[in-house]
Amino acid sequence: MKEFDYTIIGGGCSGLSLAYELEINNQLQKKSLAIIEPRDKYQKDKTWSFWRVFDHNFDDCVRKSWNNFSVNLPKKTKYHDCTFAPYQTIDSGLFYEKILTTLNKNTNIEFFKNINEIDVKNTKIFNSVSDFENTNDKLWQHFCGVEIETEKDFFDEEIFNLMDFDCEQDNNVHFFYTLPFSKKNALVETTWLSNLNHRSVHSYETQLKDYLENHLNIKKYKVLFREKGAIPLFHPTNIKKLNQIDIGTAGGMTRLSTGYTFLNIQEHSKFIRKNLDNVHKLKPKIIPDKYQFLDKIFLKVLANNPKKMPDIFYKMFSSKNSSIINFLSNKSNILEDFQIVSKMPKWTFFKELF
Ligand SMILES: Cc1cc2nc3c(=O)[nH]c(=O)nc-3n(C[C@H](O)[C@H](O)[C@H](O)COP(=O)(O)OP(=O)(O)OC[C@H]3O[C@@H](n4cnc5c(N)ncnc54)[C@H](O)[C@@H]3O)c2cc1C
Repeated sequence: MKEFDYTIIGGGCSGLSLAYELEINNQLQKKSLAIIEPRDKYQKDKTWSFWRVFDHNFDDCVRKSWNNFSVNLPKKTKYHDCTFAPYQTIDSGLFYEKILTTLNKNTNIEFFKNINEIDVKNTKIFNSVSDFENTNDKLWQHFCGVEIETEKDFFDEEIFNLMDFDCEQDNNVHFFYTLPFSKKNALVETTWLSNLNHRSVHSYETQLKDYLENHLNIKKYKVLFREKGAIPLFHPTNIKKLNQIDIGTAGGMTRLSTGYTFLNIQEHSKFIRKNLDNVHKLKPKIIPDKYQFLDKIFLKVLANNPKKMPDIFYKMFSSKNSSIINFLSNKSNILEDFQIVSKMPKWTFFKELF
């Protein structure tokens, strides 16, 4: 069986981001790479969105970018300008195509369906497959969305809606998320922060139909694409192995209070590429400890006080635009942290410290 210098297990977002980062920085001219990916073909399966707080390799895969967003409670709306860090949506179809076109030109890179097809004795492994056994009762951000096309102009494509809490909460945390790509075209998602045994999991279609037809009052529309997923708001319990680095969700790249992962994966890929020779000995600080600490408390508050959460989120968004975006993107300074923390209900958070 063939040996490779490097092996990436899982050719999804983090596996391909890392392979691309290595390839465009000439790290695979004299080294070989195996990518283990079971899927038969690559096609658009999701969209990745984030505030662009730093440069990344995939600006040409951006479907749309916004400088404004809103957050809603019933009868109240906050508007935010995010020109300093536009909110971008990456089309996964374009992302896969761009990366595969580049990787396929290098004969040192090979794809396999199963790790048993190669010899892994002397390879450096980067693993993006998470171990998620028995985790349904933990906290997840789970969602289902439809990209729709309306008959008439309906959406304001200049502003996206990050969270609309004007909907049934069912003793959990629930909001709708709308990304308008044009006046007639938008991705609308129903999003829950709850465990996966919650009944909301079984009624996504009804929730979406009701929101579109009775809340937004869109009667005629066509569904162009569906997206469904669940992001763990806890880190997977992958067992650490010698000579193996976990990446992506498996590597703890998800910001637990928000589910944002894409940009952390990009930062981690750069970190690995820059420290390739001794990366196994280093601890990356992609999501600094202060966020791990604050998010842990935030999620305890969320789990114990779901009814308070729409107000808490809304208050958080009354901070300065740059503070809130930097905070949610792990780039805030101490003053910005203080601004966010000071908006939180003190006693509710204090109780969860212990
Ligand atoms: C629908 C959806 C939308 C999301 N939207 C956002 C967003 O807007 N913004 C954001 O920041 N984050 C978002 N996320 C979170 C996160 O960015 C994604 O989950 C991202 O794809 C994580 O990358 P990954 O490489 O860890 O996992 P994946 O991209 O899932 O890659 C894992 C790969 O491993 C492969 N695989 C599975 N089993 C095996 C095996 N046994 N051996 C080898 N390979 C295997 C899979 O086929 C897959 O290709 C979203 C997640 C989902 C599910």
